[in-house]
Amino acid sequence: MLDMTPKEVVERKGATINPCKTCEPVGAMYCALGIHKCMPHSHGSQGCCSYHRTVLGRHYKEPAIATSSSFTEGASVFGGRSNLTTAVKNIFDIYDPDIIAVHTTCLSETIGDDVQSYITDIKIPEGKRVIYASTPSYEGSHIQGFSNMMCAIINQLAVEAPVKNSKVALFPGWVEPGDCRELKQLAKAFGIDPILLPDQDNTMDTPMTGRYEYYGNGGTRIPDIEQIGGSRALIAMGHIGSAEPASLMMKKFKLPTELIPLPVGIAFTDRYVMALKGASGAEVPKELENERGRVVDLLLDSSPYSNGKKVAVYGDPDIVYGMTSLCLEMGMIPKYVITGTPKREFETIIGDLLSQYGVQEECTVKSNTDLFYMHQLIKNDPVDLLLGNSYGKYIAKAEDIPIVRIGFPVLDRYAGTIQPVVGYRGATRMIEKILEALMSRQDRDASDEDFECVM
Ligand code: SF4
Repeated sequence: MLDMTPKEVVERKGATINPCKTCEPVGAMYCALGIHKCMPHSHGSQGCCSYHRTVLGRHYKEPAIATSSSFTEGASVFGGRSNLTTAVKNIFDIYDPDIIAVHTTCLSETIGDDVQSYITDIKIPEGKRVIYASTPSYEGSHIQGFSNMMCAIINQLAVEAPVKNSKVALFPGWVEPGDCRELKQLAKAFGIDPILLPDQDNTMDTPMTGRYEYYGNGGTRIPDIEQIGGSRALIAMGHIGSAEPASLMMKKFKLPTELIPLPVGIAFTDRYVMALKGASGAEVPKELENERGRVVDLLLDSSPYSNGKKVAVYGDPDIVYGMTSLCLEMGMIPKYVITGTPKREFETIIGDLLSQYGVQEECTVKSNTDLFYMHQLIKNDPVDLLLGNSYGKYIAKAEDIPIVRIGFPVLDRYAGTIQPVVGYRGATRMIEKILEALMSRQDRDASDEDFECVM
């Protein structure tokens, strides 16, 4: 399908082709789904809400519940006050959530709806909560939307805690349910009682029980969020997605805070492990040391098949940063590292990482760009592997390059969301997937005399 992509790269200002991001409300919706008994509410037209639910549902293979203010012509001209007022009443009457998390869309932002004042005027049932995040989709990306909803949760739910509690707050950023479980397990190995915000474990991967329930048993509990300011420390993961919520927490509650990369790969998982050690004062458990040792051994054993291989890594900035680090640990060259999210810090942190390995001159790093651009780069200088979301499969087909799916969205494979990418276990899993792709390609292309059973 992409055979006609031209090799020649010309500067484009007015058009994005095959974007490497989606819109802000998708992130706000996913973030809100990680709060226990929360109904995400899209303040705009039904079409937007359907799209956001669909993309989440296709990735997680679970229904993403959400409601909509259902704008039609009237609300588009005169504002959505009455739509939101009616919606809030209906949602509490019919779906009985503990909290409604409202986010805006292009339409409600463009007409200038004053959503906060609408909510202030709405009669909210006793014990229930309504929060709101501004998520204009013509700026940022779904990662910014996720971050904005995090800030709304902190600003509108967390209160000054007069007494410190013994918990440690963890901001995982946009990760999968399987990652949330792994992050909590690692924290518990240090004797830490974590508050993971948001917590997708058991929300977007609910077990099959034969009975459908709107709200899974998972998600961060509201009392925990209210008390999060009294935690003894905060570990925020993801320099792009978690930076704003972490700095808000520092400002509001003066929490001892560590902002670290998503714990993807060995070095970045080490950072998480050391942060847990610092927050708990406990020693690193022997079993965790062994788990790390096994991944290092795997790296050494397999290096003949990964060393020097060129890879294009693309997708959301924090997962791309982590995957780039893992590829470098495998001896690979991250030839192209791109994200659609418009954050210049991405180029700085990836550039610094590449410099540590001395390969920065060989690599192209770009934020706020698209897959069309990456395809053009590949046409000029090919790579051995693509590492990113499902949208790269068209480039993989056109250029006959193996692809390993990771990040958001993965629309054409299963089981990725219930397993971890983070931690030493996640590193092992990703190394296996990458090696599988590279070694299968070596087998496929081998001549008869070079085709070996033992590799
Ligand atoms: S109109 Fe805006 S909010 Fe709606 S789907 Fe499109 S980009 Fe997203």
